[in-house]
Amino acid sequence: MKLRVRVDHATYSALKEVEEEYREVLEDAINYGLSNETTSFTRIKAGIYRTEREKHKDLPSHYVYTACEDASERLDSFEKLKRRGRAYTDKPSVRKVTIHLDDHLWKFSLDKISISTKRGRVSISPAFPKIFWRYYNKGWLIASEARFKLLKGNVVEFYVIFKRDEPKPYEPKAFIPVDLNENSISILLNNEPLLLETNTKKITLGYEYRRKAITAGKSTKVREVRRKLRKLRERDKKADIRRKLAKLIVKEAFESRSAIVLEDLPRRTPEHMIKDIKDKQLRLRIYRSAFSSMKNAIIEKAREFGVPVVLVNPSHTSTVCPVHGAKIVYRPDGGSAPRVGVCEKGKERWHRDVVALYNLAKRAGDVSPVPLGSKESHDPPTVELGRWLRAKSLHSIVIERKMLEMRA
Ligand SMILES: [Zn+2]
Repeated sequence: MKLRVRVDHATYSALKEVEEEYREVLEDAINYGLSNETTSFTRIKAGIYRTEREKHKDLPSHYVYTACEDASERLDSFEKLKRRGRAYTDKPSVRKVTIHLDDHLWKFSLDKISISTKRGRVSISPAFPKIFWRYYNKGWLIASEARFKLLKGNVVEFYVIFKRDEPKPYEPKAFIPVDLNENSISILLNNEPLLLETNTKKITLGYEYRRKAITAGKSTKVREVRRKLRKLRERDKKADIRRKLAKLIVKEAFESRSAIVLEDLPRRTPEHMIKDIKDKQLRLRIYRSAFSSMKNAIIEKAREFGVPVVLVNPSHTSTVCPVHGAKIVYRPDGGSAPRVGVCEKGKERWHRDVVALYNLAKRAGDVSPVPLGSKESHDPPTVELGRWLRAKSLHSIVIERKMLEMRA
């Protein structure tokens, strides 16, 4: 939130001094990052901190930290622009400077905001707009980081950041295991499996095909080619699917006071998971969008709602029978149902993703009984991408399915 305030000349010039030196530190930090090919805050700070402290003796030392952070963010977004071919300079230019503040450099109170300068603390007393009070009184917290910018005519533009206090995770009453796969995710709701198609792999391959068609024989530096590539919006479309799915799952968990159970993924590499894709880059892209980004989207959403997430060991989750503990054998040739296997002990049939769900729940500490030999265990209901994208809740999908079954 932007707060504008006119200050006296002494205050303005104390802040102007800070701005000038901050800009110098920022430029040095960016140059250091460029010549050492790093965008890491820690590495930039380690590289320049001492010399900058020497150069700017009276400047409160935390400005060096925040300028390094600033530099790291600018370098990061410059990198991204460069990758998309949209950077028109060879280094990020520092035109406008907004000074970043951390909790050492400013203090907030309702009658004044004080800011550290080379001449001690100066204070500004902004008038708070209505919207400020709306947030302030509704329990939003003021973040410890803030920013300010100097405008003409002794005007300071101060940015306070409101953040919501994250709700504390509750004590879960049940578990909702979620198994991620390259073309679907499966989920266990009240002991009933459900497969939601995401088609992540198919979509990624489709985009790859279209991208190849656009760039065939042409340079990606050509503007027309770049424009066409941008119009594909692959990243946005996949992020939409992830966000929607994460929201459906987290809402369901929140309403039933359940914990979400996910596989702890880093051990499994894309090499293992998407074997049939030869292209290494492409394999990594599919892995990221179907597994790691999906997992992160769920965790992030869960944190927002205070839904607990349990991460469990992913090994052998789909090859051990959750009832007998025996091995589940999948036909090596795949047959007509390559994802369905048979338990060595009970001879009952299992769908790979359903096995994983029950094992995930067990590993998280769920002791509820596992149904044996039900139809859903080897033939779980599948919901198409277009269908669940329009659904208000997972619950409504389950109910709609049951209604259809009854009618049939
Ligand atoms: Zn079994």
